[in-house]
Amino acid sequence: MLKDSVCSLKGIGKKKADLLANIGIYNLYDILDYFPGGYEDRRYISKISELEEGEKSLVKARIVRIIKNNFARGKKVVRFAVADENGGKLDCVFFNQPYIANMYRTNQQFYFYGLVSCNGNNLQMVHPEIIKIEDFVRSIVPYYLLPKGISQKEFQKYVLSVMDMLCMANGEIVGDYIPTTIAEKNGICSLEFMYQNIHFPRDKNFLKAAKYRKVYEDLFVMQLGLEEFDNEKKASPVIDTDSIEFISALEFELTDAQKKVVCEISSDLASGVQMNRLVQGDVGCGKTVVAQVGMYQSVKAGYQTVFMAPTELLAKQHYNNMSLAFEKYGFKTVLLVSSMKAKEKRETLDEINIGEADVIVGTHALIQERVKFNNLGLVIIDEQHRFGVKQREALSSKGNVPHILLMTATPIPRTLTVLLYAGLDISVIDELPKGRKKIETILVKNKTDRKQLYNNLLTEIESGGQIYLVVPLINQSDELDGVNATDNIYDELCALYKNIKVGTTKRNVEIEVLHGAMPKIEKDVVMNQFVKGEIDILISTVVIEVGVDVPNASTMVIENAERFGLAQLHQLRGRVGRGSKQSYCYLVSQKNGEIARKRLDIMKASTDGFYISEQDLLLRGPGEVFGTRQHGLPDMQIMMAIKYKDILDIVKKDIEYLKKDDSMYLNLKNNTKLSDKMSKMFNEKTEITL
Ligand code: ADP
Ligand code: MG
Repeated sequence: MLKDSVCSLKGIGKKKADLLANIGIYNLYDILDYFPGGYEDRRYISKISELEEGEKSLVKARIVRIIKNNFARGKKVVRFAVADENGGKLDCVFFNQPYIANMYRTNQQFYFYGLVSCNGNNLQMVHPEIIKIEDFVRSIVPYYLLPKGISQKEFQKYVLSVMDMLCMANGEIVGDYIPTTIAEKNGICSLEFMYQNIHFPRDKNFLKAAKYRKVYEDLFVMQLGLEEFDNEKKASPVIDTDSIEFISALEFELTDAQKKVVCEISSDLASGVQMNRLVQGDVGCGKTVVAQVGMYQSVKAGYQTVFMAPTELLAKQHYNNMSLAFEKYGFKTVLLVSSMKAKEKRETLDEINIGEADVIVGTHALIQERVKFNNLGLVIIDEQHRFGVKQREALSSKGNVPHILLMTATPIPRTLTVLLYAGLDISVIDELPKGRKKIETILVKNKTDRKQLYNNLLTEIESGGQIYLVVPLINQSDELDGVNATDNIYDELCALYKNIKVGTTKRNVEIEVLHGAMPKIEKDVVMNQFVKGEIDILISTVVIEVGVDVPNASTMVIENAERFGLAQLHQLRGRVGRGSKQSYCYLVSQKNGEIARKRLDIMKASTDGFYISEQDLLLRGPGEVFGTRQHGLPDMQIMMAIKYKDILDIVKKDIEYLKKDDSMYLNLKNNTKLSDKMSKMFNEKTEITL
């Protein structure tokens, strides 16, 4: 019955049905499920004498006079002078509704509900709602987001009619899928109670109880849906070699967080079941070495291991680092990138194929068909968010069900990771190696600040530090007024520092530019110079965002910081603070909008990537943060999961409990209403790319 079209309701014809369809309402059930955007509290009747400007209020008053005015350009105004029993006076004003003057007479008494404003010395309500005395109910009244052509009153009537039908059928048609035991345990109200009080709450506590159920229910459906993605486990090589030798040879001690993740990985590798793990950790927390422990174990057990990085620069850096680390164990480490000469590449491919290469480091060149592994045991994908789902799958499908370890420094709140990477196990490294100094973040808001900034940069160079300066554009553009680019900043700094000598040798300040449109070779040259300390200021676009490790770089300047996502700002800031010097991050922004300011304040206040991205999500919403609908869940759901973490935790526990009872779980799976709702929620499950 509730699946009947809205047209079965009195008062809804084709025209109204079309309007309702525009907001996704087709059947009676949809009406019930269309929740108010907010409520108006109409339980308190104010005296006119106590009205306050700017507040929505309700008064009971008599029409004293009806005044019609014609303004220039045909604008018509009707004004009701009304008065309440206590003699308080108020004007009710209606623009361009001349007919209203004929609908009412003086001396009639009504309730008037509206926003109170001031007109000179007089209080007024513009377009108040006029409620007949006999129609008035003291209550909290819902208001809905409705298309033009359907009034609040009309929609409320629809809801009431559907609710009546529901009452007659004792609520059973809706099919409550939350098992009674669970509902009782958590004090979850009945469906009927929820609908009743979400639409027409008896009081605030009733509304709270109704909302609690709504949130619980949505998270319940979401969580059950996500568990469906937990595919069946595949068998992978058993790698149960130990890693003591490797770890004790490291020149530093692993942090506790690293140790914990190493254990998680080791136990996955030894389990015989394919590992599917995502390691999340802030920039600089030391993910590489954690991966290396797994790689060491894998090769020691007789399996090849492959490490894929998003850029050649990074791949080379990792290759050098790993050749050195694994040399003493007799492992053969090779590099595979597309810029290699044909002959060199062929040889490397052979080495990989016949199993001579143990550790293979490379870029997406690794996923080409020509690459055939001999005995692949472990795949590592670094900065995994830089790769498409397809690329990751292509590498993972090589060999015979290898273990898979994904690594990312893009902080996503834990709750969200679970939603977006359903089916993956998550490890978090939430601790930086000892001795790292906190990066000081400074906002640069005006010309004076900027002058100070340029002075500070000189001091920094003088004391041996190096500077990254990130700009949004390569070339300055007329369309984007006030947005800085590599070219204009380069000119500005060159002019500014032209006559200034630094260091003991009294040399010039070295400034270079790096951007994505430069040929690869040039980029490599500039980056290498920077690594070697031959450049003081590197002006670049976000190409330097990922992975590069230059411990001597102590200052990061970000121009037009308001144009970058917080997660991105956080990544950029993580490029500095890796050495022993105190590091600084300057966020330059002239934008004074409230959200822009709030975002930068968050950056200044926190260095916790998880917290930062969570705040960004709450401030801007997932659609803004992640781009439009690249993830599988509706924004609403994601917001809910973040906002109501505690309830999500309860839901998870409840589902665990339900799973223990086969018949109950089966019942749940067979509930059509639940599966309807689930498929609505997960209609386009894809994966997020940042
Ligand atoms: P990320 O997690 O960003 O990939 P890296 O793996 O590149 O970070 O590590 C950053 C730097 O920290 C490297 O120079 C690495 O050698 C160093 N490092 C990693 N773990 C530790 C540790 N436990 N103690 C000290 N230094 C460490
Ligand atoms: Mg890294």
